[in-house]
Amino acid sequence: MHDLTIETIRINGGRLCLDFVNTRSYPALGGYREFLRGFGDLVLWAQRETLIEAPDGQRLMANAREEADLARRALNDAVALRSALRCLFASGAATDTLRSALDDVTRTIRSAAPTLHLEARNQSVRYVAAPALDAWLLGPLAISAMELVTSPDRAHVKICPGEDCHWLFLDQSRNGTRRWCSMDSCGGKAKARTHYETHRRPNRSGAAP
Ligand SMILES: [Zn+2]
Repeated sequence: MHDLTIETIRINGGRLCLDFVNTRSYPALGGYREFLRGFGDLVLWAQRETLIEAPDGQRLMANAREEADLARRALNDAVALRSALRCLFASGAATDTLRSALDDVTRTIRSAAPTLHLEARNQSVRYVAAPALDAWLLGPLAISAMELVTSPDRAHVKICPGEDCHWLFLDQSRNGTRRWCSMDSCGGKAKARTHYETHRRPNRSGAAP
């Protein structure tokens, strides 16, 4: 995870809101890895999610260059919402933490509602980013969270047990036994560790090689 950036981190939470929670790592032993280091990272991430298209991103970046304070505030607001989204799916039922996160999401949807805009493009309907720096990302994230937290799928949101990961993902496997955010990273590492432990044990106990 240490050589990753917002352009290379895996996007495999299964829902927009979970992917956004996974823009940082949540290691069990403290410390964390932040992938949102500036407003531009929000834009790059949203483009990877195809939430916005390249022209929207260019327009937002041009606005951010002109209004650096506003862009910084937009990043701070996004990071605050990310904490609330994490609590929404990682905390227990009906706790104060959950209630507070639900209030944050409700407030975000209410304030973003006037800026949300859907438009028919080619064969599909797409969200069109508002040009305002503080009004293009939070609404879609909060709506994605509202949809998931109120659906039966909420019960299938899991936390990856990878020790430097703890990302959230929606387990969409047929038998509901997905354990890791990805078999290529955390799952693969755990598998390699188990393999190593299994094969070194005979020598440690003094058995003949
Ligand atoms: Zn993981």
